[in-house]
Amino acid sequence: MSTATVPAPELTIMDRLPEGFLQASARDLHRLLPGPTLIELPGERKAPLFVSILLHGNEDSGLGAMQRVLAKWQDRPLPRSLMLMVGNIAAASEGLRRLDSQPDYNRVWPGAEPHLAEVPEARLMAAVHRRVVERGAFAALDLHNNTGRNPHYAVVTHRDPQVLALAALFARRAVLFLGLPGTQTASFDGLVPAITAECGQPGLPANAKAAARLVEAVLTLDTLPQATPERDALELFHTIGVVHVRPGIAFDFGKEACALNFSPTLDRLNFQMVDAGTPFGTTSLPRPLEVIDEAGCDIADDLFAVEDGTLRLTRSALPAMLTVDPQIVKQDCLCYLMERI
Ligand SMILES: [Zn+2]
Repeated sequence: MSTATVPAPELTIMDRLPEGFLQASARDLHRLLPGPTLIELPGERKAPLFVSILLHGNEDSGLGAMQRVLAKWQDRPLPRSLMLMVGNIAAASEGLRRLDSQPDYNRVWPGAEPHLAEVPEARLMAAVHRRVVERGAFAALDLHNNTGRNPHYAVVTHRDPQVLALAALFARRAVLFLGLPGTQTASFDGLVPAITAECGQPGLPANAKAAARLVEAVLTLDTLPQATPERDALELFHTIGVVHVRPGIAFDFGKEACALNFSPTLDRLNFQMVDAGTPFGTTSLPRPLEVIDEAGCDIADDLFAVEDGTLRLTRSALPAMLTVDPQIVKQDCLCYLMERI
């Protein structure tokens, strides 16, 4: 991982696509854009759609999606005005979620934790946020990928019918997240209908295509549906807790010598209902995990136990965003444990 310090980023605002944008890879965007950039394009309906991509530099399906959509409307006006935020270009140039010297670009939006609220990146996101709200945005989409195997799903931070309708345009599953401050989606609560689209693993054309279908659907809508989607159109889950490895513990996937050795195929459990007793790995430690609920409490003892060196789930739950990439576990988390609402 890179340890280079990068100067505090400044927001660039453009009123057209830079030359070469439709063909560029995420790693090459830094050749076209000096840093975080807001590209504002006019369209037939005035209230803009706001889309952010690459808030995590390694998650490239959003870029692929916007390239598809913008190529389609290259020679004619967009059906709706678009505000496109291209986020962490420095991290994208190295294929990383973020650089060590940077905050997570999806934890520094208005409403962030106090220690992140004053960093330069937070001021930058606040400027973008202000502009999106002032222009009376129609909807806000934040396009992401997962590192582990996951089906497509939306993340919502609000149970407003318009938000859920937006989620149902993307996938049949949505996760309600509360208590994750500073995300793009949460920052628009009560202001603009907003969802995060989790588009599976990066680098796969099918995932960029799915995100493009969502963007196109929203760009061409006159109004958002006012009714909550039917249960079979959208299954909604909520978070029991976010699972982290306790600080300072050596862990890996499929390496027996580690104090905490997770199963290397753990991400197969994503979005499966997992029974009490399911093993997650082996360990020489009594309490290697912490599980933080939406109130900020550690509820690990309600969910995991170690017996004879095997780490097991002690109640049924549905894991999401399980990753088998140790670096992502350190920078973000092992997984979310959820249940159906
Ligand atoms: Zn992400």
